[in-house]
Amino acid sequence: MPTLPPLAGLDTARLDWPSNEAGPLSTRFYDVYFSRHDGRAETEHVFLAGNDLSGRFAGWPAGRPFVIGETGFGTGLNMLCAWACFEAHAPAEARLHLVSTERYPLTRDDLARALATWPDLASRAERLIHQWPEPVAGVHRLWLDERVTLDLHFGDAAERLALLEGRVDAWFLDGFAPSKNPEMWRPELFAAMAARSRPGATFATFTCAGVVKRGLAEVGFAWRKVPGIGRKREMLAGEIASPPVDTRREPAPWFTPPPTRPTRHVAVIGAGIAGASTAAALARRGIAVTLIDRFDRAELGTTHLQGALYVKLAVETNLQSRAYLAGLLHSRRWLANLDPKQALWQPSGVLQLALSEKEQARQASFLANHPLPERVVRGLDAEAASTAAGIRIEAPALDYPNAAWVKPLELCVQLARTPGIGFRRGEVTALMGGEAGWILTLADGERIEADQVVVATASEAARFEQTSALPLQPVRGQVSQLTLPEGAPALGCVVCAGGYVPPAADGVLNFGATFGPGDTEPAEREADHAANLAELERGLPHFVAALHEAGADLSPSQLTGRVGVRAASPDKSPYCGPVPDAAAWREDYATLAKDATRVPDTPGRHHQGLWISAAHGSRGLASAPLCAELIASRICDEPLPLEWPLVDHLHPGRRVIRDLIRGKLVS
Ligand code: SAM
Repeated sequence: MPTLPPLAGLDTARLDWPSNEAGPLSTRFYDVYFSRHDGRAETEHVFLAGNDLSGRFAGWPAGRPFVIGETGFGTGLNMLCAWACFEAHAPAEARLHLVSTERYPLTRDDLARALATWPDLASRAERLIHQWPEPVAGVHRLWLDERVTLDLHFGDAAERLALLEGRVDAWFLDGFAPSKNPEMWRPELFAAMAARSRPGATFATFTCAGVVKRGLAEVGFAWRKVPGIGRKREMLAGEIASPPVDTRREPAPWFTPPPTRPTRHVAVIGAGIAGASTAAALARRGIAVTLIDRFDRAELGTTHLQGALYVKLAVETNLQSRAYLAGLLHSRRWLANLDPKQALWQPSGVLQLALSEKEQARQASFLANHPLPERVVRGLDAEAASTAAGIRIEAPALDYPNAAWVKPLELCVQLARTPGIGFRRGEVTALMGGEAGWILTLADGERIEADQVVVATASEAARFEQTSALPLQPVRGQVSQLTLPEGAPALGCVVCAGGYVPPAADGVLNFGATFGPGDTEPAEREADHAANLAELERGLPHFVAALHEAGADLSPSQLTGRVGVRAASPDKSPYCGPVPDAAAWREDYATLAKDATRVPDTPGRHHQGLWISAAHGSRGLASAPLCAELIASRICDEPLPLEWPLVDHLHPGRRVIRDLIRGKLVS
């Protein structure tokens, strides 16, 4: 199992602003980010011209994006200039993907101050500042515009590039002078750069230090000195002809990603949050999408349904918690981009009450183990929790100030309206795949052809022959709804204990949901309303008392509600990725049943062009949008927005291998 850096907040940059003339100075490294005299010219000369970007952009085709990798994002000047250069030179259908590492992110205010130096970059800077992530180690995907994506990999450059799933066409080797920051310019950094390079990838750097020349040469980069700019007479540029093969999947070759195939049209089955977000992610990349569902959410009208965007993280850091926290942060940014006016969601914050001593101890250990920024998660005593909730609460709580509630059905409808998506009402009964692509058969006999297919049908996702080996359990959940009387108390945030209750929207309070593993009954049950009420009373007795006082009729027989059947995997992590050919895996990896250490070097065989996003349980708002980006990025041969061990953690084939090792599936 690869080791990952701690799941924690990062120290932000320590800056001094010596004068209005110069840019910020790092007091940690005693070096400047850029100087006002030649900062811009230096970026243009060293990094853009040094990698011949204008020429390469001009000839860049549609299809996979051009990928730039950078060490040391700093103020983002290099990347904003690369974006401007791309816009000036690239054809309209080309796309750009920026990947940048940063160990000491600037605060949002410092970033804004530093970038104010460049008025002509103001609108680009604003896109960046607006989406600027909290300083949490990990990958943060930002959408700079329709064609340009930025993945910020917060953490040490060498560490982050070793975790990057993706390959780079041009490197900006920045990061303060080697004499001032020797720790960054270490052999592991150069090795990771080489391993994450495309054949022919170029690099450029301002420095000619021996340690850099040697480091690059040792891993296969050819370098040459070229004229520098300003006081620096020389700099380095070069390329790598034959980057090393990726050996990271040797211990688990079944997770080797399948080769990409040319893709114009994708069929997505299931128009819930998983399917609709995947369809939208693909359409945004210029792929035609047919989104198919048995029912059309647009016909539902007003449902008043609200879901909570929140996660429950383990006390000890594990891969699942990492993936979910990444998903939470991702969804939050994604929602803000999708619906800036907040018609479909509200960043209300989410409180997780600790109603028992055991849960209080769990929360305390969680906070001690995960020093995350307060804007991400913090502990509140009962008084502070009461202030946040706007109602008396008797228990301490974990507070996720950035978490939110969402109108999930309306969100799905909006996503399905993304240009490039065609909605088809229908039920897919069979899938047939071949070299040329896929044929989907619908219940009415119609056939739809597509280059690739994504299955996103929650508890029904394993009903196709190709997906039938994936263990999936249906979980019924019933939400109760209460129309509030005048003068009813208002909650200030989402409150969760066993269930959840968001602040009422449009006068209707949602609370629930029940948790019924193995249950698929679609009809509402009075007993479930009673269970939801009991849970509400347990967490928020003062709120319930105030509802009574305001005249609300809380008898279970008077409540209305909605039932959903979700799906869960046995390990409770989503399935996201290519669908394994389980029969082939049983054949190829049969030796594992006898000896789990005898790993064949055969890459995993998949149903080429078939993908799944399912098993999101009741946390789909946190996991599905990130999974959508993972699948779309894979299909389009882009860097992924998650570290490779987490990508593998979500791989739908993980249970097939686990069962093989335990001798369960071998006939
Ligand atoms: N490219 C930047 C720009 O366009 O503004 C300027 C980069 S500044 C000269 C160097 C950056 O490298 C700083 O932001 C610093 O925090 C970052 N850095 C230093 N050591 C690092 C490391 N080991 N890993 C990642 N980033 C690092």
